[in-house]
Amino acid sequence: MREARAFTEAELLPHADRFDAEGALPRAFIAQLSDRGWLGAALSTRWGGGGLDAPTWGRLHGDVGRACGSTRSLLTVQTLVGLALERWAPEPLKARYLPALARGELLAAFALSEPSAGSDVQGLEARARPHGDGYVLDGVKRWISFGQIAHLFLVFARLEGGMAAFLVEGSSPGLTREPITGLLGVRATQLAELRLNGCFVPASHRVGGGDLPFSPVAATALDVGRYSVAWGCVGQAEACLAASMAHARTRRQFGKPLLEHELVARKLTDMLTDTRAARLLCQEAGAKRKARAPDSESATMMAKYFASTAASRISADAVQLHGASGCIQGSRVERHFRDARIMEIIEGSTQMQQVMIARHCALDDLEGDES
Ligand SMILES: Cc1cc2nc3c(=O)[nH]c(=O)nc-3n(C[C@H](O)[C@H](O)[C@H](O)COP(=O)(O)OP(=O)(O)OC[C@H]3O[C@@H](n4cnc5c(N)ncnc54)[C@H](O)[C@@H]3O)c2cc1C
Repeated sequence: MREARAFTEAELLPHADRFDAEGALPRAFIAQLSDRGWLGAALSTRWGGGGLDAPTWGRLHGDVGRACGSTRSLLTVQTLVGLALERWAPEPLKARYLPALARGELLAAFALSEPSAGSDVQGLEARARPHGDGYVLDGVKRWISFGQIAHLFLVFARLEGGMAAFLVEGSSPGLTREPITGLLGVRATQLAELRLNGCFVPASHRVGGGDLPFSPVAATALDVGRYSVAWGCVGQAEACLAASMAHARTRRQFGKPLLEHELVARKLTDMLTDTRAARLLCQEAGAKRKARAPDSESATMMAKYFASTAASRISADAVQLHGASGCIQGSRVERHFRDARIMEIIEGSTQMQQVMIARHCALDDLEGDES
């Protein structure tokens, strides 16, 4: 993992502001990530993935998030689609696509949200109807990370009263994409709106079965996404903290370094404590995921909830501590400040976590590890 940190500091951090300004991750850089095996790091070795366990994979996403939230997002969507396929897709579909996903030769995107269905995904309006030896999809998917460049989409649509998932090739007739630009943060995530207009998908590309109102395929993917985002937020918080400590030691006002002013020390103490707490919650979630503990999903929600809200607070405090020098592009804290806002919205907003954690987390889960 030291090697991962060294790579992100040498090869990613120096370019992250440019990626953000250009609104894209260069193909050559994505190829570097593929060469390192990071696009398939969590996929099973059976399919050519790295087989990293949850704690190791999480720390990798922390290191990447520390340098660039958009790059971490690419790894997130690729992995959440890959792991959802590993768990739910029929064997021939896995054999056809997972090795190329693991190598990073194919890029995948996750297409759940719609113009009228965000937090309330059960309000999906996209429809699938049986047709011949497959299904025809109609609808609009919005805010799809890396939708501009993905080769494959995991698309969710209503089917006979339930929610179904389909793996749709980006080149399918009836699928068009429009770039979405002007984002507040993670500006290099190449968002797109997808339009499905009589898009035919073979029956063999249906992922998971059943007719549940909320697809377990989506639940699996969002759980993986939350874990990755939580670690990415730890990375952002650490980056902001490091920059703020350095600034507070060197910037002098009223005849002494900022650090020696008590209100500044208090702010830094809160930043340090929040960052540590976020990392510990992510580590706990990682350990539970590795052990396949029954409460790993609620531990992941808590980690995402705390880490994303902490990253928002910490990045805002970092901008404040830097004064005007934190308000300019290229200051690093400024980009994390913008990116952190997004982390409270994606993979279940802060409010959705607040609702779900209270429902899912039993008191026993909190007390269980004390003996
Ligand atoms: C940069 C970016 C990347 C994204 N990438 C993807 C992607 O790859 N794939 C994908 O499918 N989607 C993606 N999304 C969409 C994202 O998942 C949604 O934005 C998110 O689910 C919230 O939905 P919404 O934006 O429609 O907000 P809404 O659901 O309309 O919510 C608006 C506000 O109301 C609050 N709210 C909603 N319901 C309640 C409630 N019951 N109680 C209290 N508060 C509530 C929310 O917390 C939020 O603050 C992305 C979004 C962004 C910004």
